[in-house]
Amino acid sequence: MVLTRDRHRCRICKVKNYTVGHRVGHFVVVKGEYETYKEARAQAEVGYHIVIVLAVAHLNHDTTDNRDENLEARCQYHHLRHDREHHRENQLQTWQQKRQAREGELVRGEEDFI
Ligand SMILES: [Zn+2]
Repeated sequence: MVLTRDRHRCRICKVKNYTVGHRVGHFVVVKGEYETYKEARAQAEVGYHIVIVLAVAHLNHDTTDNRDENLEARCQYHHLRHDREHHRENQLQTWQQKRQAREGELVRGEEDFI
């Protein structure tokens, strides 16, 4: 299992699953490490602390590709960051496709007036 292989720590910042702390930039200032989410949640001060819950990221963004080398444990921050870069690439591609479609329509529209 990926979390076991990665020793229940984010592969980027090394923060442990169910850590309570507050984030400063890329890193978490640790208040404590706990064994369960419930335990961690009970120790977290609402509005100040966060609870780290690891998720498994697909490095190539293909969620059907579950080969070990494509999977890594990530904290919420680094998982989101990984996905955000991918979303940005997709958005740019979609925007370019829409622009090309609009330009195509404009060209076709002009032909109607000729
Ligand atoms: Zn991390």
